[in-house]
Amino acid sequence: MSDETFSAAAPGRVNLIGEHIDYNGGMVLPAALSIGLQIDLTPRADRVVTVSANDYDEIASRTLDETASGHWSDPALGAVQRAHALGLISGGADIAVRSTIPQGSGLSSSAALIVAILKAARSAKGADISDTHIAVEARAVENEFMGVPCGIMDQMAVSLATPGTAMALNTKTLTHSIVDLPKDHAIVVIHSGLTRKLTDGRYGALKGECDTAKAYFGTDDLCALDPADIAASDLDQPYRKRALHCATEHPRVLDAIDALKSGDIAALGAAMNASHASMRDDFEMSLPAIDALVADAVTLGADGARLTGGGFGGCIVAVVAKDQQHAWLDALLNRHPKARFIGAV
Ligand code: ADP
Ligand code: MG
Repeated sequence: MSDETFSAAAPGRVNLIGEHIDYNGGMVLPAALSIGLQIDLTPRADRVVTVSANDYDEIASRTLDETASGHWSDPALGAVQRAHALGLISGGADIAVRSTIPQGSGLSSSAALIVAILKAARSAKGADISDTHIAVEARAVENEFMGVPCGIMDQMAVSLATPGTAMALNTKTLTHSIVDLPKDHAIVVIHSGLTRKLTDGRYGALKGECDTAKAYFGTDDLCALDPADIAASDLDQPYRKRALHCATEHPRVLDAIDALKSGDIAALGAAMNASHASMRDDFEMSLPAIDALVADAVTLGADGARLTGGGFGGCIVAVVAKDQQHAWLDALLNRHPKARFIGAV
């Protein structure tokens, strides 16, 4: 039995804009955060998988033959199983997790965990697997082992994003480019104080509603549809609204990329505000407390703000002038005592 330990890290990520369109044919714009997760992987000769984590008191003991059980160690187990199936490790593994990414908050703790385990297993084998391939395998763990029907954004962002920049990602081709973030404005991430689990079914329900819209329009790519055609169609609600969100969100991502490239913060903020309205009204993935947090963020001086992540809780992201950031944050957290500052890029 090898007792050599292999380590890997992955950051949390915030999505600036482009929500729930990474499985509907769209472009997305995530950025890596300075909070992150590190794992140590020690391969085992038997089929046991143990997981210890600074966020949990117990050490989980599982086996390569188990399915997901709703336990916190499921994503780690799924990642080790995938590493084993790919031939990166020949048995189970002992996994130790150290993380500063809040869980269930739309900052991709699950993707960071799975990607980091797969990267550690890659170095255990010395395998020539690209970071994009790691992301694809990590998505398969969420889709197939966890039963979370997510797109590819989170895994690509945490596997490949360059810290301090945004990643313009085409989720159909997986081509991506770096977009610089503004110099005089901060991208601020604030936790609403409300937590959700992607496995709780609401994410899957929204995905299913998009699938109904795809079947109606005979396309896999809701983002390529003309919003006017969707609005004029006789597709039932809520499917029509779901498709409308996708078809309007994709051009907003393109606007945001252009705005960042030209330094037009007002245009970036407008795209973010419109994105939030669409998530609230058409995709119906927000909550009243989050709508209030987003509205106050703008009222108090942000150029734009929106819910970020899978929805129904978690974080908001706002763009705010760096010289106003501290006063703005104090005022916002004063009005929303349950909210807390996570970080800024
Ligand atoms: P997120 O938006 O943070 O990705 P998810 O619900 O998709 O939220 O994933 C959260 C799950 O990932 C947790 O329930 C747990 O199973 C796993 N996880 C995340 N961070 C850790 C950690 N630090 N230690 C152990 N498991 C973790
Ligand atoms: Mg997740």
